Order: sequence, then structure tokens, then C-alpha cells
Amino acid sequence: MTPTKTKPRVTKSAMKRCYFFGNGAAEGRAEMKTLLGGKGANLAEMTNLRLPVPPGFTITAETCIAFYEQGKQWPTGLEDEVRQALQHLEQVTGKRFGDAQNPLLVSVRSGAAFSMPGMMDTILNLGLNDATVEGLARKTRNPRFAYDSYRRFLQMFGDVVLGIKHKQFEDLLHAAKYRIHAQHDTELMVDDLKVLVTDYHQLMREETERPFAQEPWEQLRLAIDAVFNSWNNKRAVTYRDLHRLPHTLGTAVNIQAMVFGNMGERSATGVAFTRNPSTGERAFYGEYLINAQGEDVVAGIRTPNPIDQLQHQMPQMYQQLLSIAGRLEQHYRDMQDLEFTVEEDTLYFLQTRAGKRTAQAAVNIAVDMVAEGLIDQAEAVLRVQPEQLNQLLHPMIDPTAHVEALAKGLPASPGAAVGRVVFTTHQAITMAEDGQQVILVRDETSPEDIGGMAVAQGILTARGGMTSHAAVVARGMGKCCVAGCGALMIREEEHQFLIGETVVHEGDVITLNGSTGEVILGELRLVEPTLTPQFRQLLVWADQVRRLGVRANADTPFDAKVARDFGAEGIGLCRTEHMFFGADRLPVVREMILATDAATRHKALAKLLPMQREDFIGIFKVMAGLPVTIRLLDPPLHEFLPTIPEDIDKTAKQLGRPVQEVQAMVASLKEFNPMLGHRGCRLGITFPEIYEMQVRAIFEAACQVTKEGQTIVPEVMVPLVGYVSELKVIRERTIRVAEETMAASHVKLTYLIGTMIELPRAAVVADEIARAADFFSFGTNDLTQMTFGFSRDDIGKFLPTYLKEGLLPADPFATLDVDGVGQLIRMGVQKGRATSSKLKIGICGEHGGDPASVEFCHRVGLDYVSCSPFRVPIARLAAAQAALKGKKEK
Ligand code: PEP
Ligand code: MG
Repeated sequence: MTPTKTKPRVTKSAMKRCYFFGNGAAEGRAEMKTLLGGKGANLAEMTNLRLPVPPGFTITAETCIAFYEQGKQWPTGLEDEVRQALQHLEQVTGKRFGDAQNPLLVSVRSGAAFSMPGMMDTILNLGLNDATVEGLARKTRNPRFAYDSYRRFLQMFGDVVLGIKHKQFEDLLHAAKYRIHAQHDTELMVDDLKVLVTDYHQLMREETERPFAQEPWEQLRLAIDAVFNSWNNKRAVTYRDLHRLPHTLGTAVNIQAMVFGNMGERSATGVAFTRNPSTGERAFYGEYLINAQGEDVVAGIRTPNPIDQLQHQMPQMYQQLLSIAGRLEQHYRDMQDLEFTVEEDTLYFLQTRAGKRTAQAAVNIAVDMVAEGLIDQAEAVLRVQPEQLNQLLHPMIDPTAHVEALAKGLPASPGAAVGRVVFTTHQAITMAEDGQQVILVRDETSPEDIGGMAVAQGILTARGGMTSHAAVVARGMGKCCVAGCGALMIREEEHQFLIGETVVHEGDVITLNGSTGEVILGELRLVEPTLTPQFRQLLVWADQVRRLGVRANADTPFDAKVARDFGAEGIGLCRTEHMFFGADRLPVVREMILATDAATRHKALAKLLPMQREDFIGIFKVMAGLPVTIRLLDPPLHEFLPTIPEDIDKTAKQLGRPVQEVQAMVASLKEFNPMLGHRGCRLGITFPEIYEMQVRAIFEAACQVTKEGQTIVPEVMVPLVGYVSELKVIRERTIRVAEETMAASHVKLTYLIGTMIELPRAAVVADEIARAADFFSFGTNDLTQMTFGFSRDDIGKFLPTYLKEGLLPADPFATLDVDGVGQLIRMGVQKGRATSSKLKIGICGEHGGDPASVEFCHRVGLDYVSCSPFRVPIARLAAAQAALKGKKEK
């Protein structure tokens, strides 16, 4: 992780390492974040704005890189520059570092280009020692304050620089309070604090086997080293891995003259937001503590007061704070998160940065700021993280609830759900009919579970990945799902599951968080999503700038309606197999599959035809005027067959066939690698009558809807094509049936016949395949599966290890592997369009709703993305951002 790859941008001799700020002028400015870190750049900017910022200087992040390059040694010249900057600071403040009469004290803080909260603790009050503490006491005539500052410094220095556990200091502090029966630190008097300081010294001597560094320069040198080292401490590296941030930038170090919020009742410290970070409301928001230092506010030792109270306690300070906060927001044109200190009725700013916010706040603030003339619409579109919108599209756990997760699986479908545990579809339906809310818990779901999934509030599975059956179906239904929860041991026969020692019985209530993968015992309060006018407004602006079309993957009129309401511009994938799983269909589908002669098969297909036709009519009506891509049957036939003995018996009875015969048929359809087996267009070629029935149903439905006065453009899509000959055969048959059907109905329709590109070979020979296709749709679920050779249903077994050990940057089924699978897509697009320049190309794998993947789709020139209905708004925003970023780059 050592950042050795970054090349120095300027020659070593010319490299300036310390940037001063103070006295109304700074050497840095806001745009210099990469060099000075966010904190340093903003301190400089605030100084230039002539705001009250204690003076100081920033050691550049480049210096941190040089420190690592030189085996954790200070680069040549750094010491001279720091000493010079310190001297300058002494002149500006009129105090001297280490002076026993009038000591200069500083804070030392890290600050990278991007915000990494909690990466390193701050060191305050540096420069104090046994002599300067006395000087501080005399000068301020406040010995209690001086010793309070000293004990705080020893505690922070001991923890951050010397690596002594924070708790060891806390224990001594508690003991001091206990001795005088005090509740709060503020009750400790100067003599108590002196004893505590002696205790701290002793602890440090024992732990490090040397006395505490009394010499301030030595303290500073060690503190700077500690900040440099903190760049690569474990939690910083993990944080960057999690947020996919580069490891090569290094951190800057900010050394700033101290101001004190702990000088007494006319001093305070606090944090504030220029708008409410959870709702976005334009109201000043924050907390403060009287007579305290920064860490007290965050540490939760004392409960801070809401900022409104400052209006009464320190009215002048409050007015000044409010006015500067307003100026900062205007200047940065974004909601700011501020840190301030009041030292004896003088206000100082220690930090400003763009405030973190919830999705609701992000949307509201962006839209409000356009109305206020602070930003334009394009800027507003760029201000909201598309993925964050998920929070607004599903019920979620009350953010104030205390959550203690029992286990964690994959966050397979977002939202939250509360319900009683059931283990079978049958039980789910029975209890749901009884008016109860249920959570379906399965090892993994199969097509037979569709009914149970439909009535359940949420789905929990022990196995399967982000594109497992449970995950895909749940996302399509907009239902919460936690998949691949490895800790879950289901004992269906005993009607219970185990997670470690905890036994959860059928009927017990659990809560699922599909956005984090958490499984929680008991009921947590959920809050409903709201599509506010601001949210709709933002999406309208997004639509005005995006180039990519956004369609939905939907298999029912209901899903199609949800998708259309969310702004889908058509259906990019209708998986017809989902229509085969309904309670009324499955027996007929089984009759068709288990038929031993053509006549029986045709009879079953004839029963299915009107059902399919009705399905398509429903979808076409909802999608009137928009394109609808219908995919012909894809999964291997065994997926529709019963697996457990009771179901096999039942099916045999229904069909009037001997059980052994049905058993034998089921066994004969079993495959070693069903995903690589008899599925997709291979089925259509070997059982032409299935596709024929489907095509007939599509065109009969389209003709009928057309006669009723609606425009419809059916797009028939063939799955799993790897060789152009496969597509040619099916194309010819499709055209024949389509023409026959239209002729019989006296209707002439425009229609397209295209293919999924979901096998690596298809991408490689896309120029050939394009000869028989009117459109391509990249099936990136299978394309990822086939390219990596990772089974989408079994990846849950090894993916967590891969991610933890950094072997993969992300789950390739959730976010597109641009370097591998993405290159196949690029090749497919280029080759396809080389044959047919106008070839319409989309994507219908789950990646179509992932913002980073959407950006890639924009870059390679796809025409549209298609995703689950509930991700349509996310894709609209992501597509707009991709277009705006593309424009900026140009
Ligand atoms: C795909 O493979 O990307 C796809 C959309 O099809 P399915 O998920 O149904 O295999
Ligand atoms: Mg597929």
C-alpha cells in the first residue's frame, strides 16, 4: 500500500512544502485540494476571505508521498521549511514555541484531498510541557484551564503518537472523577488535574519506557510523523478500499495556532451545518458545548446543546456565526459543515467543507439552490449521488432505530422488511392470506417459490449471489432481499433456522435491511418512501441532458406500470419464463415439458397460448407507444419441474402418469452445468414449437392492441446466441409466424428481431451476428458469468473472501468489470456497428441500473440501458451525469 507510484510533479529543489495562512492572506486556495488536502485548502480559502481563522501552515500531501518514498524519513529541506513556517507563526501570533512565559500552542491535524472521517485523531494543545503549562496558567490567570489543556494534550499525544490505548487514559480520568465524586470533567479542579497529569506521565513512562517528550519541537516532529504514518494505518486503508479511493495521494498536515473553547463560561466549541443535513431544510443546524474542546462534542461524554440555544447563551457569537456561515455557503455554493470555537467571546473557524447529507437532503438542497440562483440545473443534477436515490425509493429502517444485526448477507435488493419467518411458499401464502406479514427464508429460491416471494414482505436466502434467482426476482418486484447469508443454517424440518447460537423459529419476527444485508431479530420501525416534487424536478432536469435511453426489465403489467411511473421509456427485457411460474401456468408448463409425443405437447402449448397472449396484452397496454422487448424462453426446462417427492407425486397425479415415469423424466432433464446446458436459443432450436407459441402470442397480442388504437413496436429477443446460424434459424421461423399471425389479423406492424449478447463468443463475432439482428442487448449477467467462469448462483461462497482480500475491486455482478467484460462490450458494439451502423444496442443485465456501469454504457455508445423498475430513476440520473461528465471532458 506504500504510495510509491506517484511521480513528483515538480523538481525536488523547487518543491514548496509548507503553505502559510494567517493575517488575512494565504499561500493556498480552495482549488489546491490535491496538494493541501480538503482541510488545508479550505483553511487557506477562509483566510483569503478574511474570516476569523487562527493562523497556521499546511505541509503538502506531496511531502507525505516523499516521506514514504524515502523509507519514512523526512525529505531534505522539510525541517528547515517547518522551522521557518513556525517562526512566521510566532511572529504573527506574538507567542513563542516552548516559551515558558508566553507559549505558542498548536493543533496538528491530517487532511487528505478527499474527506476520510476518523482516519486520524487530532492532536490539540501541542507545545505544552511542565514549564509552558505554568506560563499558560499565569498568562491566562486560569490554572485550571492550563492543566485541563495539558491533560488533554497528554492523552491525545499518548494515544495518537505513542500508541497507548485511549482507554488507559480514560480509566485514569474516571479514577480522578471518582476520587472527588464528580460526574463531569468540568468539575475537576486544578489540583485534581495536576494529580491526573502526574498519573498520565507515569502511564506514558511505563508504556514507552522513556519519559514524555518535554521538548516542543520533538513533540511536533513526532506528531507530524504520526500523521504521515496514519495515511497507511489499517482503518485508513480499509476506508479507501471501501470507497474506492486512490492510495497514492498522501495526506497533508495542518499545524495551526490553538484557540481555546475550554477557557471558561465565555468559551465554547461546536459543529454546524448551513442546512439540515437529514432533511435539507434551509435552517441552521448544529451542536455546541460551553467550556469544551472539539473532541468533547464528538466523543459524546457530555451531551451537546442544539445550536439554537447559543442564540440565548451567546447572542453576539450566534449572529456572527450565522452571518459567516451564510457567506461560506454563498461562496462555496453548497451546504457547509463547519467547526468553530469561541475563545472568550471571540469566534474562530477551524474548518469548512461540503456537508455529508441524506438522499432526501441532497435532492432538496440541489433543487432549492437552483431556485435560489446559487447553482444551475446541470450542477444540481451532478450534486446527487444516483445510488443514494435508493433510499428514497423503498421503505427503510427508521434511521433513529438502534440496530443490532444477527448476521449479514449480500444486500441483494434494497429496502427493508419486517415479517414472520416462514420456510415454504405454501406457508407464506397461507399466512399472508391470514393477513400476516411474512419473510420467506430459503436456502435458495427456485421458480416454484415465485408465489411465496410475491406475498412475502422480504426474502432471505442462505446461498446465492447478487444475480441469483432470489435477487433478480426480488429486485424486479421492488422487494427487499438479503441473499447468500452464509451464517444462516436452515432446518426446514424443525421449522427453525440457526445463526450461531441463536435459534429463530417459524413465526418469529425478523427485520431485513436489503440495502446493507443485515438480518435483525425482532421488529424495527420502517419509514415509507416519498416521491417529492423536488425529486421529480431533479429527474426532469436529468432527462433534459442525458443521451442514453432508460428502459425497464419488467414481466408483468404491474411492474411495467411501476416502471412507466418512474419514467421508463419502454421495456428492455421481458423475461417470459416468469410468466410460466404462476400457479395456473406451472401445471400446464409441466404437462408440456413432460409430454412424450408431439400431440400432447401441442395440446399443452395451445393451453398456454391464450395465457401468454393476455400477459402481453396487459404489458403492451401499459407501455402503449413505447418499445417492448420480449425475450423468448431462456432457462433450462428442469427449472420448471418438481424436485421434492411430494411435488413429483402431485404432478404425476395431475397428469395421470405413473410416478416412476415422471421421476425418470425429471432425472433425464437434470444437467451437470445447467447454465451451460440445454437453455436459451438451444431450447428454441430443439423444441421449435415453444418459441412458435410464444411468437404467436406476442403478435396476436400486438395485433389486438393495435386494433384497439394503440401503437406498439414489439421487439422479439433471442437469448444465448453464440453463433449467427442459431439466430438465423430462429429469425426465419419468427418472421414466418409473425407474418402469418399479422395476415390472419389483417394488421401490419413494425417489429424487430434481435438478440442478447451474453456469451463471450457472441461479442467476439458480433459483426457476423449483426447480419441477422435488428438490435443487440447485452446480457451482462450471463456475460459476466461466462467471462469470469463465476457461477452467478454460487459466487456467494467465495466473493466475500475475494473482496476482503482485495482480489476483486467489487462484485462483478453488481458493477461492470470494465477491464474484462467491458472490453467485450466495446468490441461487440464496434463490430456490430461495423456491419450495421444504425444497429440499436442496449444492456439488460443488472448492471443497467448501476451508476458506474451506466457511465460506461454511455461512453461506449449504447442507445439505452434497461434495469429493474425501482432503479429507473437511478439510471436516469446516472445517464445524465455521464453525459455532463462527457461534455466537461470534451
Ligand atoms: C443477462 O444474462 O444479463 C440477462 C439479462 O438474462 P438473465 O439474467 O435472465 O439470464
Ligand atoms: Mg442471461
